Amino acid sequence: MECQDYGLNRNIERDNLNLNPLQRGGVLTKEARKALYEFSDGYSVCDYCAGRLDEISRPAIHHFLDDLAEFIGVDQARTVHGAREGKFAVMHAICKPGDTIVVDGNAHYTTHLAAERNQLNMVEVPSNDYPEYRITPESYQEVLDYQEDYGEDVSLVLLTHVDGNYGNLTDARAIGKIAHDHGVPLLLNCAYSMGRLPVDARAFNADFVVGSGHKSMAASGPIGVLGLKDEWADTVLKLSKRHAVKEIEMLGCTSRGAPVATLMASLPYVIERVGRWDEEVQKTRDFVEKMERIGGIKQIGVKPKEHDLVRFETPVFDEIAEKHPRRGFFLYEELKKRKIVGIKRGQTKWFKCSAYGFTQEQTDYITRSFAEIVERYK
Ligand SMILES: *Cc1c(COP(=O)(O)O)cnc(C)c1O
Repeated sequence: MECQDYGLNRNIERDNLNLNPLQRGGVLTKEARKALYEFSDGYSVCDYCAGRLDEISRPAIHHFLDDLAEFIGVDQARTVHGAREGKFAVMHAICKPGDTIVVDGNAHYTTHLAAERNQLNMVEVPSNDYPEYRITPESYQEVLDYQEDYGEDVSLVLLTHVDGNYGNLTDARAIGKIAHDHGVPLLLNCAYSMGRLPVDARAFNADFVVGSGHKSMAASGPIGVLGLKDEWADTVLKLSKRHAVKEIEMLGCTSRGAPVATLMASLPYVIERVGRWDEEVQKTRDFVEKMERIGGIKQIGVKPKEHDLVRFETPVFDEIAEKHPRRGFFLYEELKKRKIVGIKRGQTKWFKCSAYGFTQEQTDYITRSFAEIVERYK
C-alpha cells in the first residue's frame, strides 16, 4: 500500500508570532534542537543503561535528575510523559478506588481524567465569581473543614499552581499548609509554572509537584516532571517484586529517547530564564494595559497579572464580526496577514494569549496590530 501525504511540514513558529499560551513555553532552544536530532532514534538514551532509566550515566540522566530536583526543591525527581501522567502516578500510588480527593475549581481536565481513571471521587473547591475566578486558601480551609466535620477522609489535596483558563497564580504555600494541618498531602500541578517561574516545592509545602516539559520547559515532549519528598519515595517509587530494579508507577522506564534529551539540553537555559520571570510579568502587565487601552477589550482573571497567560473578553471584535463579510473569521485572517497566529479561527468573543518569550518590540508590534484592526473596522 501507499501512504497518503501526512502534511508533516510546519513553519508556523518560524514564520509567525504565535500567541497560543500552550505553545509559548515549549519552544526549543538551539541545544534542544541538536539533541532532538542526536537522539532521534528509538530507545536512543538506552545505549549505556544498566536497568534503570534514572540512573543512566551517558547521557547523564542521573546528574540531570539531581539538578532538576534541586531546581524545583524536591528530594526525588523523575521524568514522566507529561504533567497528566505525573498526576495519575501520584493518585494511583497513594489513593485507592473510591477515595476522595480535593481539587480546585480551575483544575485542568487532565486532573479530572487522572482521578476518573483511578476511580476517585473529587470534591471541588470553588473559585470566586466573574471576573476574577480566584482560588483562595480560605475556600480550601472551608472544604477541608467540612470534610473533617462530616468524617469523610481525604486522601490527597490537589492545587493547580497556575490554571490554563485565566492564568491565575494561586497561593500554594498557604494551601499546602492548610492541607498539612488536615493531615493530607498536597500535589501541586505546575504545568504552567515549572520552567517559567520559580517553583520551590519545599517552600510551597508541596509533597508532590508535576511539570510539563512541552508546555513550560523548552522541551519537545511528550515529557513531564514528577518531583516528590523522600517520605513518599517508598510509595510512589515502589519497586517491582518480580523485576527488582524497576519502579512500578513508572512502568519501569518512562521517556526513552528524544523527549528527555531535549528537556536535558534545555535545562541550563530554563534555569536562567526562570531568573528573569519578573521581566515577563512586567511585560505581560504592559501588554494588558496597552490592549485594554484600545477599548472593548477586558482582561479576565486576577488583576494585575501574575502570569503570562492572559484571557481577554473582546466585545469589540464580536461587534465587528457581526458586520464583517468574513464574519468571525476576520480576526484570524487580519492577524494572519500581519504574521500573528495562535488565536483560534472564528473566535471573537474572547481569547487566551501570551507574549511569553517575545521581545518588547515584538509585543508592541502585536498590540499595535490589534489596535490597527479595531481602528480599521470599528
Ligand atoms: C497543559 C496543562 C496540563 C497538561 O500537561 P501535559 O504535560 O500535556 O500532561 C495539565 N495541567 C495544566 C494546568 C495545564 O495547563
